[in-house]
Amino acid sequence: MAISNTEDERLHALKQLRLLDTPPAESFDRITRMASQLFDLPIAAISLTDSDRQWFKSRVGVDHWEIPRDRAPCGEVADTTRAVLIPDLRDHPCYRDSLLAQSGIRFYAGAPLITREGFCLGAMCVLGTEPRQVSEQEQAALTDLAAMVMAQVELQHAFGRVDAVTGLPNRHQLLEDLHDQAAGGDGGPRHLVLAEVIDALKMSDTVRVLGVGVIEDLMREATRAISASIGLDTQIYHVGAAQFAWIVRSSQAETGLEDRLRDLGAHLHKHLSSAPVRISLNPVIGVAPIAVGQTLAEDAIRMAHNAAQEARLTGQSVSTYSMVADDHHRRRFRLLSDMRTALISGRELSLVYQPRIDLRTGACIGAEALLRWKHPELGGISPGEFIPLVEQTDLAGPLTAWVIAEAIRQIMAWRDMAIELSVSVNVSVANLDQPEFATDLIEHLQRAGIRPSVFEVEVTESALIKNRTHVEEQLRTIRNAGIRVAIDDFGTGYSSLSYLRHLPADLVKIDQSFVRDLAGDQKGQMLVRHLIEMSRGLGFRVVAEGVEDAQAYEILRSWHCEEAQGYWMSPPLAAIDLQAWLGAQATVRDEAA
Ligand code: C2E
Ligand code: MG
Ligand code: MG
Repeated sequence: MAISNTEDERLHALKQLRLLDTPPAESFDRITRMASQLFDLPIAAISLTDSDRQWFKSRVGVDHWEIPRDRAPCGEVADTTRAVLIPDLRDHPCYRDSLLAQSGIRFYAGAPLITREGFCLGAMCVLGTEPRQVSEQEQAALTDLAAMVMAQVELQHAFGRVDAVTGLPNRHQLLEDLHDQAAGGDGGPRHLVLAEVIDALKMSDTVRVLGVGVIEDLMREATRAISASIGLDTQIYHVGAAQFAWIVRSSQAETGLEDRLRDLGAHLHKHLSSAPVRISLNPVIGVAPIAVGQTLAEDAIRMAHNAAQEARLTGQSVSTYSMVADDHHRRRFRLLSDMRTALISGRELSLVYQPRIDLRTGACIGAEALLRWKHPELGGISPGEFIPLVEQTDLAGPLTAWVIAEAIRQIMAWRDMAIELSVSVNVSVANLDQPEFATDLIEHLQRAGIRPSVFEVEVTESALIKNRTHVEEQLRTIRNAGIRVAIDDFGTGYSSLSYLRHLPADLVKIDQSFVRDLAGDQKGQMLVRHLIEMSRGLGFRVVAEGVEDAQAYEILRSWHCEEAQGYWMSPPLAAIDLQAWLGAQATVRDEAA
């Protein structure tokens, strides 16, 4: 019994090293070649003793990869943890009739491969077809070669190839394994699967709030959950902070890989979100079809990573990389992944402010905060391009949080300069879908000591129509706290007018498409005039957007539209330029007076 326990432990130690059935590697082949040359013998091997077979991690002069363990001299080395020397197999009572002897082998010398913990993994062995003696010097050399093999095993297992937190082989090891598979001619189609348990931004937030230990626990838990789901036989690699990868043979892939991965995604989400520290997780899985030997290892990882990000972008749990992904797709993809970084540093983002003018007095009474992104390589990116992308992802929350924080900071800075302006920010449905959005905003304003009435939230009409009850509830909370709500792009929602009666809003912003050519457009004038009258009749304050000339300005004023915003008065300006603009306006008014 004791012996079998030891053998179990020995096998466990061997399996832990994850050497069995791995592709050949030059670092081991080098030692085997050296052994063969040193002994001037045709056959040399690094032979690992599995439960019922001798498996060759490296071999010279043999074609097969394994032989039965039964009556193999290497098995004796493993059992005894000692070197075995057999000058002539035909003279040996045990091996006389062995498979080796039958295949013409006469000579065998094997030195044990012993781990630090004292487990013997197998033998470094040399074999010949003639009987032979071994000198003491040769014995010592064989022992040295065995030690070199073990040094390589340890080096490979530990140094820079194993993740310190999960103990899994890392990205370098995956790269090397993919290289080795290609070089070993073990080609053919495969799928590289990459699971990202939590996205970079959430992870950095979590580390900041809860510390790095929580993430480390989460990664260990993720390892257990993935390995329980895909089976212990599949090697998992820890390839990025919260990313795990594994290789699936294509025969497995044909039978519903995506479905199985979707199940895994759901399992991860459920399992990990119920961990002691509750972090809301968003695991996504990317799949890259690869042809071993044709797809570069680096490309394979990049493709799987891209597919995972694509899944994140499109709100799916699993996505497969497609070769035909076009420039558009790549750009979208890049913008989103770069936005993650931009939000963490905040350096590339800024707000500009477009003045809103009281049409009765001509004074600037507020400003709309509009986001600007200066990408370090792509230059200025229009919000018209990146906002719709971001709104589909979990970045929508952090992005608006950034805008709100920055707008509040600016209001405080202006207050210190005795500039009293109300500021409006744009929020999306994705924001209002977060149950705590309204209360967070209210709290934020309270902390900053800002009167709610100087803050305004703009929501597009289409957002309201799609998600009525839920969104309306949040807007009601916001209004009850004294923060104003504006309906943006008003008139473009094409909905029934009856909903206007119950709209939880203080004002409407008539969309610029109706206002821009107002002077020259008779029908447009009819429409805008009625929009203004109707909205005022229902109790809304009315703002016209997109006022580009003096005529439009005058027409709107004569119709009792309350406010206007547009290039005719001012484009959106950086805060400092808006201050200068306000100064100039005041001077003009003073002179007129
Ligand atoms: P919006 O909220 O309707 O903002 C007004 C847009 O009209 C701004 O474009 C502004 O620069 C532009 N504009 C102002 N006056 C005129 C004019 O006289 N003529 C014309 N043709 N255009 C004028 P911008 O800054 O490119 O923003 C586009 C849209 O992106 C915004 O439309 C808003 O929906 C969205 N957006 C901008 N910043 C944010 C943000 O921080 N969060 C969210 N969720 N959306 C934002
Ligand atoms: Mg707006
Ligand atoms: Mg608008």
